Amino acid sequence: MILQLGQLFDIEGMSIDIDENITAEELSAMGGYEDFSSDMHIKGRAQNRAGVTALTIDVSVSLRQLCDRCCKEFERRYDQRFVHTLTDGSDGFDNEDNIICLSNTLDLGELALMDLRLALPTKILCREDCKGLCAVCGKDLNEGACGCGQ
Ligand SMILES: [Zn+2]
Ligand SMILES: [Zn+2]
Repeated sequence: MILQLGQLFDIEGMSIDIDENITAEELSAMGGYEDFSSDMHIKGRAQNRAGVTALTIDVSVSLRQLCDRCCKEFERRYDQRFVHTLTDGSDGFDNEDNIICLSNTLDLGELALMDLRLALPTKILCREDCKGLCAVCGKDLNEGACGCGQ
């Protein structure tokens, strides 16, 4: 979904409500490496407050992921809020936290995907205390101990 921001940048006090659904197929087509197991729902608001345009989005989606420790596939739902400052670039490119919207447009789906990727933990675990696999026999230690240690 492409947000048109021309008016928003121009008119103080103006806001745009966002309530979008992107299907798992569309998400995969966008070139994500993630395995989506649900639609992505993006809800939020872009608002021009005294000339500063802020975007707040709540992103919900489920991903199929592989545990880094036991290699089992599992599904996890992510509900994350992201806040950005939007600019058309006319006030300079000095602040890295600002998102520059060239031609006054913003691809909401692309942004939500990027936000989500940055928010994902570097170590993916099926659960906090996953015991992983035995380095010797390869047994899944979540299902019980093996005999190797004895
Ligand atoms: Zn695991
Ligand atoms: Zn073992």
